[in-house]
Amino acid sequence: MQDDVAQCRVILARPQGFCAGVVRAVEMVERALQMYGPPVYVRHEIVHNRHVVERLKKLGAIFVDEVDDVPVGALTLFSAHGVSRKVEEAAGRRNLDVVDATCPLVRRVHREAQNYAARGYDVILIGHNGHAEVEGTRGQVDSYVIVVETVSDVANVSVNDESKVAFVTQTTLSVFDTGEIVAALRKRFPAIVGPDTRDICYATQNRQMAVLELARIADVVLVVGSPSSSNASRLVEIAASAGVESHLVDGADRLDPAWVRGRTAIGITSGASTPESVVNDLVAHIGTLFPVTVDELPGKKENVHFRLPDRLLQPSRHLEAAAFPAE
Ligand code: SF4
Repeated sequence: MQDDVAQCRVILARPQGFCAGVVRAVEMVERALQMYGPPVYVRHEIVHNRHVVERLKKLGAIFVDEVDDVPVGALTLFSAHGVSRKVEEAAGRRNLDVVDATCPLVRRVHREAQNYAARGYDVILIGHNGHAEVEGTRGQVDSYVIVVETVSDVANVSVNDESKVAFVTQTTLSVFDTGEIVAALRKRFPAIVGPDTRDICYATQNRQMAVLELARIADVVLVVGSPSSSNASRLVEIAASAGVESHLVDGADRLDPAWVRGRTAIGITSGASTPESVVNDLVAHIGTLFPVTVDELPGKKENVHFRLPDRLLQPSRHLEAAAFPAE
């Protein structure tokens, strides 16, 4: 039954949703299932979205927390967030057939951190302790990596030589918060070297600029994504910091109607791991509550694609295309 209210605009931010790293990682699981048949093991959620994970489970993927949970020798994918060397070594000891879906932009941060460490720098990683990407990046460096989460953490950083300090960052941070942390680090260690906010990937930056634009014209912002998604959580914070009520919504079934009732302009965006179908379902669900028109902001065009590994580009041995509907 529709509420009796005036028609409201739903405004979609652009760009939003899947980034090139997520497209590649999801496609890698699908291709592995097609080529080798189920089960295919995946360490950690391939990307931080429950809808993606549930769909891949139905197709035959088995998600595990650690490689020790995988049968010896089995085909195993590492998630887009990357893994530490310890995980790579543990997979080697179990003789796992590994396909690495680490996003190339996360790999780039690994290489930066490794290079700084090899040149004798103390490495600071700006990021969220406990996040899979941060655990992977710090575990790719031989020396100890100091994790800094906030500006106030900077005062407690202890290094061996203040003239040889470097920093790198997680790829999915807020550009604004990270800029403040980098400024605090530069003040404390004037000789520090690092990429400023350039480690924050193109997809994260574009979605953050788009949500700011949305926040200027919407009276509530809904960010579609799972709570485990770092980049989706940052979009909620950025919209809120622009003075607009904002909520993380992990699908139409998680919408509180009180968030949208009585609004004239509902802004919707989504994190880099959220399938478009989940956003479409949410828009359709809001349309069952009261009449809406749907507009899209023009936004920035993205044209980034990452190649699949060669072994997943071979013709399929177990092609069952009908079992793999488009997202
Ligand atoms: Fe790669 Fe950025 Fe997507 Fe993460 S959010 S998978 S770093 S493109």
